[in-house]
Amino acid sequence: VKTMGKNNYLFFDESMTNSMREKARVENILREALETDGFTLHYQPQVAVKTGKLTGFEALLRLKDFSVPPGIFISVAEEIGLILEIGRWVTRAVIRQVAAWQEQELPVMPVSINFSALQLNDTDYVDFLKRELYQMNVPPRLIMIEITESIFLDNREETLRFLHQLKNLGVTISIDDFGTGYSSLSYLTEVPADLVKLDKSLIDRYLEKNSQAVIDSMIALIHSLNLEVLAEGVEEKEQFRRLASCGCDYIQGYLFSKPLPPEDAVNLFHQNFTS
Ligand code: C2E
Ligand code: CA
Ligand code: CA
Ligand code: CA
Repeated sequence: VKTMGKNNYLFFDESMTNSMREKARVENILREALETDGFTLHYQPQVAVKTGKLTGFEALLRLKDFSVPPGIFISVAEEIGLILEIGRWVTRAVIRQVAAWQEQELPVMPVSINFSALQLNDTDYVDFLKRELYQMNVPPRLIMIEITESIFLDNREETLRFLHQLKNLGVTISIDDFGTGYSSLSYLTEVPADLVKLDKSLIDRYLEKNSQAVIDSMIALIHSLNLEVLAEGVEEKEQFRRLASCGCDYIQGYLFSKPLPPEDAVNLFHQNFTS
């Protein structure tokens, strides 16, 4: 069905399951969003544990007019091959936002962009990124690319080549959703990353059961590889307190802020995040 034009969906309607119909609906929404400026980005702050200061943002994609969550529409976009185009839209939009903040003379912080494993097929991506940065006069160190460990599964060599290209450009790299997948720590030693993001599920699982030792030793290990650590999905003060005592470097979560539209995120630049 994937390869058929959207006009053929009616024909298949009867035999389609609800989930296929839903997928087709999301596909139409995505195609239209690309043509009509229907996407927008929200920005979630990242905070240094030691100082309570803003250190960066993660850019998270939203549909302006639909309540389909990114968890759903991103996987549809991956399935139908739209993720390459969407990935470029996100990259360009983030760089323009950073440029706008620079022009307002705000103390601009790095912004993280989520990079789907399938975007490795976008073989000119690094050149594209470089061009956009140059055009908008944004220094590469203000962009961080987030990859998940699944990217290594089928494409180890390709991934390493890609990551080294990013590094050479001066862009930083983080490992997203750490602790959800295969959690083989060995690949961490060969990846030119800067930051590891501990997944919310890991934080919940261990801190709520009071088995802090697991997080403790994970952070120690990550630090021993000269990488920094950010904890994702931190909602409670008590979690913050424990993560601080584990030596976690950065926190991102509802405790400080949900992802916000740029006009609201701008208020966070001078905020002190105390917990
Ligand atoms: P992710 O990269 O793991 O992003 C973090 C998700 O956790 C975001 O969900 C964020 O809103 C949510 N979150 C942050 N703090 C908290 C918290 O304290 N509690 C809870 N319950 N949730 C929290 P969101 O925005 O719905 O995005 C879901 C996923 O969609 C992302 O997970 C990412 O995998 C994907 N995604 C979003 N934007 C993009 C994009 O531009 N490109 C790609 N390839 N994927 C994206
Ligand atoms: Ca992410
Ligand atoms: Ca994540
Ligand atoms: Ca996640």
